Amino acid sequence: MAHRYDDSNIFARILRGEIPNRTVHESEHSLAFEDIQPQAPVHVLVIPKGAYVGLDHFLAAASEAEQLDFNRTVAEVIRLKDLGDGFRAISNARAHGLQEVPHYHLHILGGRSLGRMLA
Ligand code: 5GP
Repeated sequence: MAHRYDDSNIFARILRGEIPNRTVHESEHSLAFEDIQPQAPVHVLVIPKGAYVGLDHFLAAASEAEQLDFNRTVAEVIRLKDLGDGFRAISNARAHGLQEVPHYHLHILGGRSLGRMLA
């Protein structure tokens, strides 16, 4: 499917430095920052710096370097946030996934037992 990226989305604005964020980790191709409305004691969003709408777009179109960098950033968040007791990683995509911000992001949640969550 065609993925049309709208660069007016809030995460694009964060990447352009137009909106502040609480950065957890930044690398060449990725940024990890605190969610503004945390749903758990740890709630970090990991995004690629490239213009990808959602997980499937990222997997189909991002370079190996971008994908490796993203995975390493996720690992770094898990380490920095001391999530050895566990965590949840979620990506919402498009309408059925109730994606609000159309720039690919992975939610990393943890810091407490999160309960069962299968919609
Ligand atoms: P989605 O529903 O698209 O998977 O999740 C979007 C997430 O982005 C939500 O958890 C929301 O709290 C977060 N968010 C929305 N606007 C901002 C913002 O301006 N800054 C930060 N740090 N997070 C945001």
